[in-house]
Amino acid sequence: MSKLFLLLLLPLLSLSYPRHVKDTLREIAPGVYGVFGTYEQVSKENRGFISNSYFVITKEGVFVVDALSTYRLGKELVEAIRTKSKLPIRYVLITHYHTDHFYGLKALKDAGALVIAHPWSEDYLQSDAASRMYSARLELLGKKLMKGTKLIGPDITTSTSMTIKLGGETLEIHHLCKGHSDSDLVLWMPRRRILFAGDLVFGGRVPFLGSGHSRTWLQCLESIKELSPEILLPGHGEPIYGKEKILGQVRWTENYIRDIRMVVKELYQQGYSVEEVRNRANEEMLKINPEYAQLSVFFEVNPVNAYYLYFEIERELLEEQR
Ligand SMILES: [Zn+2]
Repeated sequence: MSKLFLLLLLPLLSLSYPRHVKDTLREIAPGVYGVFGTYEQVSKENRGFISNSYFVITKEGVFVVDALSTYRLGKELVEAIRTKSKLPIRYVLITHYHTDHFYGLKALKDAGALVIAHPWSEDYLQSDAASRMYSARLELLGKKLMKGTKLIGPDITTSTSMTIKLGGETLEIHHLCKGHSDSDLVLWMPRRRILFAGDLVFGGRVPFLGSGHSRTWLQCLESIKELSPEILLPGHGEPIYGKEKILGQVRWTENYIRDIRMVVKELYQQGYSVEEVRNRANEEMLKINPEYAQLSVFFEVNPVNAYYLYFEIERELLEEQR
């Protein structure tokens, strides 16, 4: 390819990423809006805009779910909200303390929001892991894109359930289980049957099992089925509409977790090392269901999941022997 051709192509490539968070703003249901990051790993090109945020406009103010990956993106989120409502931003719920969901919090705090999260987030913010992760993200995105990004803790915590009544809306916050992280919370609007599920349901993509709670994650999915939502808003990817479709996606996530747990357990019991389990994971999973090959990031994430699961299964088996 000639250099000239590449130069012509470059602006086209960068055009594929939204230049402002509000460019992705969509109304999902009356008064319920979402902004949608590109479904991939964090890079300078996508500015870290890889996850979704949502907000509900009520008569007494705005309730936000998740804060995106940088202060700058958080500010763009506030600007997006301001195109729809001038009412105060009252609360922001963080569905889990992963970088792509809470790094933009400073902007929402500045706008006056109270932060609601699971209390585990406070332990996380004190940990070495949190500062290591921040340095890694700074290196990846650079000072300019990360400018102003601060690690912000919660104002209100719940490790079980709480209900907020705001402007005629009932907003239930539930910790259904430890699943994708130690700090998973969901928002449930019972009357409208809308579930803001964080990263507990992945459609068409391999879920990441690195937090070591795959067994309880399955319980979480049971609880989601019991709620029986009509709209499910995930932390990444497209909203899912309709009970049947949601059930299909939940079952899909369940099947993947069950299958990989079975594969890793069998290999573990046959005496394979963690490295061998990681290397064999894709082949064994494809024997169970060849369709896994079509999933986004299967070949990259599945071996990593097998690696983490090896230790989780080992822990479970040791507990059983006690
Ligand atoms: Zn996420």
